[in-house]
Amino acid sequence: METRTYTADVVIVGGGTAGTMAAIKAKQADPSLSVLVLDKADIRRSGAISMGMDGLNNAVIPGKASPEEYTWEITESNDGIVDQQAVFRQASECYEIVKELDSWGVDFEKDASGDYEVYRVHRKGRYVLPMPKASDLKLILAKQVKRMRCKVVNRVMATRLLTEGNKTAGVIGLDVRNGDMIVVRAKAVILTAGAAGRMGLTDSGYLYSTYENPTNSGEGFAMAYHAGVELTGIECYQINPTMKDYNGPACAYVAGPFGGYTANSKGERVTGCDYWSGELIMNMWKMANKGEWPLYLKLTHLDDESISRIEAILHNNERPSRDRFHAGRGKNYRTDMVELHFSEVGLCSGHSSAGVLVDREAQTSMEGLYAAGDMASVPHQYLLGALTFGKIAGTNAAVYAAGVSMPEADPGQIEAERERIYKPLDNPNGVPHQQVETKIRRIVTQYLMPPKTVVKMELALEKIEHFRNVDLKLLGARDPHELGRAMEVHSIVDCAEMMAKASLFRKESRWGFYHYFLDYPKRDDANWLKRVVLRRGEDGEMQLYTRELPPYIITRNPADNEEETNHVQSVV
Ligand SMILES: Cc1cc2nc3c(=O)[nH]c(=O)nc-3n(C[C@H](O)[C@H](O)[C@H](O)COP(=O)(O)OP(=O)(O)OC[C@H]3O[C@@H](n4cnc5c(N)ncnc54)[C@H](O)[C@@H]3O)c2cc1C
Repeated sequence: METRTYTADVVIVGGGTAGTMAAIKAKQADPSLSVLVLDKADIRRSGAISMGMDGLNNAVIPGKASPEEYTWEITESNDGIVDQQAVFRQASECYEIVKELDSWGVDFEKDASGDYEVYRVHRKGRYVLPMPKASDLKLILAKQVKRMRCKVVNRVMATRLLTEGNKTAGVIGLDVRNGDMIVVRAKAVILTAGAAGRMGLTDSGYLYSTYENPTNSGEGFAMAYHAGVELTGIECYQINPTMKDYNGPACAYVAGPFGGYTANSKGERVTGCDYWSGELIMNMWKMANKGEWPLYLKLTHLDDESISRIEAILHNNERPSRDRFHAGRGKNYRTDMVELHFSEVGLCSGHSSAGVLVDREAQTSMEGLYAAGDMASVPHQYLLGALTFGKIAGTNAAVYAAGVSMPEADPGQIEAERERIYKPLDNPNGVPHQQVETKIRRIVTQYLMPPKTVVKMELALEKIEHFRNVDLKLLGARDPHELGRAMEVHSIVDCAEMMAKASLFRKESRWGFYHYFLDYPKRDDANWLKRVVLRRGEDGEMQLYTRELPPYIITRNPADNEEETNHVQSVV
């Protein structure tokens, strides 16, 4: 196992949705710069989209919706904790991305006059733009990265940032195929490593059958934390409605526009709006506690043509295995409802709001460090937000890199990380990573999952400390693959500790079920309409504090005078 060293003007950690777009735009901004993408997997098939996607959940198409309306919708659905300037920027610039994807060959649904067709799933406004034949989306993005002559190194798992005071200096990582240590000196770094999606245990019992892409195990969050970078909204978890035992989306965003809805066992509609939010999950949880469970996605009342169109989207784009899953159980949308369940808990701004704190320029609290996508703090960004902020991060990183000199890599930081990464190899007969990972994820599921209580969170912290002192030290690895898995366990425990501490800090309930805190069951805007920020202090301890929100730019609902009403989610 060797040490491989690279230098790049801009290095991107994670070649998923945001990372590929960041690479393309960094190179477009300044073709003379060297742009390097590191991915733990292979960028042709990595990340949340891996193949394609059924649609864009939040496309703000001129003439169909306005950035003001979208910003207000996101403000309301996040109980007010938003940087409206960042959300507004996403809403204003996303249409250009849609048109660019279109020009690259991504297939979007259009009406007879060739305009983009958008549907209503949110509480207010039409933002869902179907992509009925976009199973090649990831390949299209990867092809553009290649066309722009960005360098891609696959199978490299980034583990730590190199820093020079409060400036970024590059990235350290591990080649999970041959065990080489990777050192990248870089002027600018963009973190796009996706959600922390492997936190709770899955309902199916399989370790890696998570709702989120299972390779997204929280290194992005952990790398930022260990470098002293600010994170926010970590107490606002992600929990999604999923298909029971399959753990993919059910999916209301596709079926809703055709007339599908969430129903009880009698087939009765149970929610006015299937937009995914903490409020929706709270309602599902309350119904489960009243014994009104399971819930279902109901399509049986739809005509054959509508069902065939839903199948054409759901069974071909995002997860073709869904067709086989139903077929294997003898189920059909025409005659059977689809049983729902809750996903495991995780951290993801794409569907919720936890992430590295960024502003409207994708700038983090560290100079030269940018973040975008599911691990950056702009709430409910989904796919199009990841692409839009990937573009912003890539462009700004290029401008920054052009104006600074190449930093030196600190040998002390490299040696400390070398010791940490290779430690499990000293213990080839140690406890296998699957067992250690199961243990920390069981702690997450049993203690961190809402409803939260002070007692549960404090017990979680006690168990996390024990886990660090005992289990992590017993963790063994026999080859580079197992080393990678071992490092993922380190990220998971870091994220778990952040989740417990941030949850304890926010002494109120907010975001429906995501931060339902029984010791403080009410939302308290007077004291808590602000951010909880956390970072690692100079002393190595986790610091938590509040920060006022950036000033709102939209203070009333722009659609107030229109006839269209909010779709109410509450049913209980
Ligand atoms: C099941 C599912 C369905 C969805 N459906 C929709 C939908 O229909 N419409 C919609 O708009 N949005 C949807 N989304 C959301 C959308 O796909 C995401 O918000 C978006 O793709 C996130 O992009 P990202 O770049 O942040 O993360 P990703 O695309 O997941 O990219 C993260 C990348 O980082 C890499 N990586 C992770 N850790 C490391 C590391 N340590 N070192 C190097 N590389 C690393 C991964 O391999 C991956 O390539 C869905 C998400 C999921 C999970």
